[in-house]
Amino acid sequence: MEEEKLWQKSLSAIEEKVGASTFELWFKPIRLIQIKEGQATIEVPNRFFKEWIEDYHPALISETIGSLMPESAGRNMNMAVKYNIAEKQATGIKRMDARLESRRTKLAGRGIYLNPKYTFGNFIAGPSNQFAQAAARAVADSPGSAYNPLFVYGGVGLGKTHLISAVGNYVADKRPDCNILYVSSEQFTSEVVFAFRNSKTEELKSKYRNLDLLLIDDVQLLENKTATQEELFHTLNVLYERQKQIVLSSDRPPKEIKSITDRLRSRFGMGLIADIQPPDIETKIAIIEKKAEMERITLPGDVVHFLASKVKSNIRDLEGCLIRLGAHSSLTGSPVDLPAAKSILRDFIQEDDRALTADAIAKAVAEYFGLKLTDMRAMRRTKDIAIPRQVAMYLSRELTETSLSEIGRCVGGKNHATVIYACKQVEAKRAQDENFNRMIENLIIKLKP
Ligand code: ADP
Ligand code: MG
Repeated sequence: MEEEKLWQKSLSAIEEKVGASTFELWFKPIRLIQIKEGQATIEVPNRFFKEWIEDYHPALISETIGSLMPESAGRNMNMAVKYNIAEKQATGIKRMDARLESRRTKLAGRGIYLNPKYTFGNFIAGPSNQFAQAAARAVADSPGSAYNPLFVYGGVGLGKTHLISAVGNYVADKRPDCNILYVSSEQFTSEVVFAFRNSKTEELKSKYRNLDLLLIDDVQLLENKTATQEELFHTLNVLYERQKQIVLSSDRPPKEIKSITDRLRSRFGMGLIADIQPPDIETKIAIIEKKAEMERITLPGDVVHFLASKVKSNIRDLEGCLIRLGAHSSLTGSPVDLPAAKSILRDFIQEDDRALTADAIAKAVAEYFGLKLTDMRAMRRTKDIAIPRQVAMYLSRELTETSLSEIGRCVGGKNHATVIYACKQVEAKRAQDENFNRMIENLIIKLKP
C-alpha cells in the first residue's frame, strides 16, 4: 500500500533526525491510519505521546510526511496531523482535558491567549520562587495598585511564563470585563513592524493603550529593536499613568539587558523586580508529585527522588522526563521502578562526570550523621563515631575503586584489615536491621543517584 510505504520512509527520516533512542521510544510505536485531504491521521498508544511530541517536535511529523509526498500528490503541502489515542482514556483525564479546552476557547473568545494550565493553583512555591510568586499574587489581587510594573526574571524553564500567565488567568476569572493581553516579545515586535509598514500605528496604539492588564513575556528579546522599544516605552507610560497593570518577564534583570534604551530599562525597574532561582530538591519533588498527580502517573518514591536529584534545574526538562516515564508505564501497565527509570532516561540525564571519591563519601557520611569530618577522623572509638566511620568505609568500598589503604586513610588512618572488618560489619547489619539498611540505601541514592 502506497501510504504505508510513505509512512515507513517518513519513519526512517524521523529516526535520522531524532536519533535511535528517541525514535524507539516515541515514534516507532506510532501507526499511520490514513492520509486524506491534507491531513494525516496517526494513532499513538497513549496521550503522553501526543503531549511529548507536541512539546518537543511540534512540526516534525507533518513536515516529514509533507516533504516525502510524491509531487503529484502535493509535496511540501502543509500537512495537518491528527492524533488518535489508542488507549482508553480514564474519565478523570478526559474531563480535565475537556475543562481545559473549554476554558482555552472561552478565553480566546475574549482575545486572551493564555495557557489555562498555568494557574497559581498549579504553581508550586518554594524558597527559589516564593518572592516572585507572592509578588505575582499581590499584583493579581489588585492590578495597577500593588507593584507596577512587576518584572519577573529567571533562567530557562523556571516558570516565568507560568507565573505571569497565572496573573492573567486569575484576573480573567475575577474580572470578566477586564481587558487583558498576553504577548510574547516576538509577537509584539512583529505587530509593531506590521503597523509601521502598513500605517496602522493608530490601531496598534488603541489596542495596547486601552488594556487593563498587559503581560509581555521574554522582554530580553527586544534588544537591538529600537522602534519596538520606543513603542513599548510609550505604551508602558500610558498604561502606568492610567494605573493599568504591566507584568514583564525576562531571562535576566533589567540592568543586564544591554542593547535597550536607558529610559526603557529604567521603566522596567520602576515597580518591583522579582527573581526566580533554580529550585531546590524539595521544590522539585513537590513539582514532580503535583504534575504526576495531574497526569495520573504513579511513581515510586525513589524514582521521584532520582528525577529530582538528577535533573538539575530546568523544570521543563523535569516535566519532559516525567512524561516519558508516564508513557512507558502506560504502555507496560505498571509503574516504572528505579532501574527502569534510569534506563528510560539514560540519554536525558547526565551522569555526574566527577567520579565519586572516598574523601567525598567520608564528608557526605559525616554530614549525614551530623558530625564534623575532623571528628569522624579522630582517634576516638565511641559508638557514635565508630558506626559512621564504618559506613563511610563500606560505601567507599562499594561505590569507588579506591584501594583499601586509601579508604582507611580517608576515615582517619585505619589499616586495610580494619576496612575489611568494617565492611563485613556493615553488611551483616544491613541484613539484620531494616532501618539501618534503608539508611544505607538513602545514602547510596544521595551519593550516586
Ligand atoms: P520559563 O518561561 O521560565 O522558561 P515556563 O513557565 O515555561 O518556564 O515553565 C516550564 C514548565 O515548568 C511549565 O510547564 C511550567 O508549568 C512548569 N513549572 C515551572 N515552575 C513551576 C512551579 N513552580 N510549579 C509547577 N510547575 C512549574
Ligand atoms: Mg517562558
